[in-house]
Amino acid sequence: MKKIILLFISILLSTSFCCADEPRLDQDAPYQKKLMEIGFRILNANRVDKRMTFYYKNDQDVNAKILSRTKKIYIYKGLIPFIDNDDELAAIIAHEIAHGLDLHEGLARRTAMKLRPIKYEQKADRVAVDLIVNAGYNPLALIIVLNKTTGEPCFASSRSNGTKRLANIYEYIYKKYPAYLVYNDYKKNIYYQNFLLTTKSERAKIRQKYQEEKLKSVSNKEIKRK
Ligand SMILES: [Zn+2]
Repeated sequence: MKKIILLFISILLSTSFCCADEPRLDQDAPYQKKLMEIGFRILNANRVDKRMTFYYKNDQDVNAKILSRTKKIYIYKGLIPFIDNDDELAAIIAHEIAHGLDLHEGLARRTAMKLRPIKYEQKADRVAVDLIVNAGYNPLALIIVLNKTTGEPCFASSRSNGTKRLANIYEYIYKKYPAYLVYNDYKKNIYYQNFLLTTKSERAKIRQKYQEEKLKSVSNKEIKRK
């Protein structure tokens, strides 16, 4: 019995000593790798020649941000549970890259961004849609991830009205990339369905606006022909 106990203790000691010297695998490393992979893919696909870098931040806030001086983009740990796939992560990163493009424009632009935050949030959303599409991701993912995080700081800015902001993105996709709405991979997604439910009247106005514009351009052409 004594031998067995001694053996047990020696095994216990040897394993604990062996593990103390082993490098600990960082459980956050896969997130960091994923962020860089998607971030640099978006930069390259869009021929963005301004330097930006991507970091995973061990912080429970539901947030993402870019630092104006260093152009470091941080995705917070608290945001991870709200992301279901690469498209949604790409959407968040693309929004921050869009801010980065403005920040690279210099002091005057940075001041304008501080003075008119909502205007530049909406601009970042539209630029993000272009960046996402050019990198081969689905732009509807931006609507999905914002619909899940409405009211959270910075990324889904509490300063701008959620419905209005989502309608702004929808309008841009409707106008510029309608194929994503026709062949819609998100039709059965519960967050997309919730977006459809909560923006019924806004989307009806957008459809009406573009139908009227189409009619106008057709009748203008006919008038010119006569
Ligand atoms: Zn933003």
